[in-house]
Amino acid sequence: MSTVDTPAASPAVTNVLIVGVGGQGVILVSKVLAYLAQQRGFEVKQSEVHGMAKRGGAVFSHVRFGPQVWSPTITQGEADVLVALEWAEGLRWLPWLRHGRGLFVADTKRIVPPFACLNRRPGAAMRYARETPAEVREHVAEGCAIDATRIAEDLGNERVANVVLLGALSVALDFTVDEWETALATFVPAKTLSVNLKAFGLGREWIERERRGEGTEPADTSHAATLAGSGTEVPAPWLEITPAWCKSCDICVKLCPERCLVLNGERVVELAEPERCTGCRLCEWLCPDFAIRVHLESPALSAAAAP
Ligand code: SF4
Ligand code: SF4
Repeated sequence: MSTVDTPAASPAVTNVLIVGVGGQGVILVSKVLAYLAQQRGFEVKQSEVHGMAKRGGAVFSHVRFGPQVWSPTITQGEADVLVALEWAEGLRWLPWLRHGRGLFVADTKRIVPPFACLNRRPGAAMRYARETPAEVREHVAEGCAIDATRIAEDLGNERVANVVLLGALSVALDFTVDEWETALATFVPAKTLSVNLKAFGLGREWIERERRGEGTEPADTSHAATLAGSGTEVPAPWLEITPAWCKSCDICVKLCPERCLVLNGERVVELAEPERCTGCRLCEWLCPDFAIRVHLESPALSAAAAP
């Protein structure tokens, strides 16, 4: 992967488009980049749309910087870099990428909207983007599919997946690591700075391995794939709920296709009817506070795999 021509090397404006869904931290990535460019003395224009963010809706942000920038929005086919925190959102915005030289960096994280789960049988296919990272790479000048969510989970905080992506993005732009880290420290709470810096470093390392051709294809973690690889015995899904993170917003309760979730007396989500749960993972994907994880393997296997 080459470095995108930033205005330091070229008078042109650099266009970075960041997309995802509500709760993933699109705006943080955008703010860090805009601040960083401003600190370097560039003129910066930033615009964002996050009207449905609290309901798992699409969120996107345009960041444009250079010696002089007139418009805050990137037109179709003009993005130098497209950073996607959610896989299908990334595919939806691909036409915005510069043809023949744009860079696409996407988390393989999938957040499936409720209407994509009309077939409720356990393991049923969802109506969701089916393109694999390898197929997408054939249509872009440079494409990187990173399992940023898994990297963040391994760090013990799924919320820093956006900063893993930021680390990956950093390799493509002409700013120093110190500049990135200083900008990051300006926006994240002091108590999470350490884990955010680790996430940033892992994102950088990951993409540098990709450049050396040492990357590995992210695993397919869809329910169907999990079941397909699990042999004949289909495990019962189970939920890992972090009560302290549940803000009682009710989204998962309302959108669970099987209506098997409730808010208990303490206004914390609870799986009231486990036998009805199909493991579709909608509650996990839609929770803006990462309070639910759906496990499709036995509790014993999960415990054995825990770091
Ligand atoms: S688990 Fe998440 S989506 Fe469900 S009520 Fe709590 S905060 Fe809202
Ligand atoms: S509890 Fe979660 S995983 Fe189970 S059916 Fe409802 S939304 Fe799907």
